[in-house]
Order: sequence, then C-alpha cells, then structure tokens
Amino acid sequence: MRFALDEGKRVEATPGAKGKCPGCGAELIARCGTKKVWHWAHKGQRHCDHWWENETQWHRDWKNHFPSDWQEIPARDEAGELHIADIKTPKGLVVEFQHSYIKPTEARKRTEFHNPMFWVVDGTRRKTDPKQFQTALKDGLEHPTKDGLVQQIWVYDSRLIKEWVHVGVIVAFDFGKDTVWILRRIKNDWVYGFEYPKLKLVEHISESRPIPDVLFGQPERRTARYRRRRARF
Ligand SMILES: [Zn+2]
Repeated sequence: MRFALDEGKRVEATPGAKGKCPGCGAELIARCGTKKVWHWAHKGQRHCDHWWENETQWHRDWKNHFPSDWQEIPARDEAGELHIADIKTPKGLVVEFQHSYIKPTEARKRTEFHNPMFWVVDGTRRKTDPKQFQTALKDGLEHPTKDGLVQQIWVYDSRLIKEWVHVGVIVAFDFGKDTVWILRRIKNDWVYGFEYPKLKLVEHISESRPIPDVLFGQPERRTARYRRRRARF
C-alpha cells in the first residue's frame, strides 16, 4: 500500500517509518527496497484485503492522476470482509487498476462489491495481448462518427476482451500509450469501444462526468480484413 496511518495522518513508506493499516489497524512495515515501489506491507505474508494486488509502478502512475485522499479507500461488505479500493471519488465511484490476471467470476464479484465502478486493465502484462488486440481491431468493423471512430470487435478475437466482456461495467484497456481503449457496449458477440486519451478519462472520473457512449446502428465501414475474412465463410 502507498499509505499507512500514523497518528491519524496518511503517511508514505520511507525507510524506518512506522504506521498502521488503514483497513485492519495492524502495524505495518515500510518496505523501501530497490526492486519494488516503496510500499507498506503487513507483517508476515498476508494482506488483510485478500483482493489486494502487489503494487507496480503502473498502479502508482495511475493512482497518482488522482488526489491522494481518493487513493486506497477501505470499505467492508455485509459479512465484514475488508476491501481497499484503489480509487474512490467523493461521489462514490470506484476505479480498480488490474495488472495481473484474475478470473472473470472473481472480477464480477469485485464489481458487485464496489459498484458503481469501472476497471482499468493493464493490456501489456501478457506479451501476446497487444498484438492480438490490434489484429482484432483490423478484423472488426468501424463506425466513423462526428465524435470520433467507434470500433466493433468480435469478442472471440481477443483473449483480453473475452476475459473482461461479462464484467458488466466499463473497462479501459491500457496498452502503454497516451490513450486507452474503452470497452463501452456489448451486443451479442460484439463489443463496441473507442480509443480515448488517458488524461480525458481521468477528467471524466474526477469530475463525475459520464464517459462518452456509443450508439448501435451507426453506419459501418468494413475494414479490408473484415471483408476478406467474411468472404472466407
Ligand atoms: Zn490491514
């Protein structure tokens, strides 16, 4: 975690610092090595939030787009189980940054807990995903609109999409560029989305403004690969 509590104040991990977990109140250790980002750890291995994912620089970079008092916000479910949201805005919207693989059923469970929320997924963690995703875009359909290009992808063309399609909320895929690809709508076996600047996405979240939507039934432009592929059937 980035923050611990020291006499009620949120403090970052620095060598020799002391602090308590804002979730469970346990004494934490400041881990300030050279391999991982400086962070607070529970004594022993176990984190009090078993959904917690080891933080990478990728997590930190995303979280740091938001005020620090929106970061790492603990909440309990009805059974008293504790979970710490990566970002929670004052209006109650949660954003989770997911680097490692989680099962789709697990992602759905977390979505139900945090709702309203959306996910930002690291699309570069698995080496094959960025290329496969680009191919899926080329094999899909395009809908030029006055607000920009809406892209339509067949779910089964991308492993990433297949894993995240049923989570039921907006998912932004981060392939390490200045833009993310936002999965906005699903219809049958197709998803609809668009590329969107990261910083604009951050503005939408910060100002609680809805993320632009896409409409079905927009005039389509078939990509060359889409035509070739369909011709084979
Ligand atoms: Zn704890």
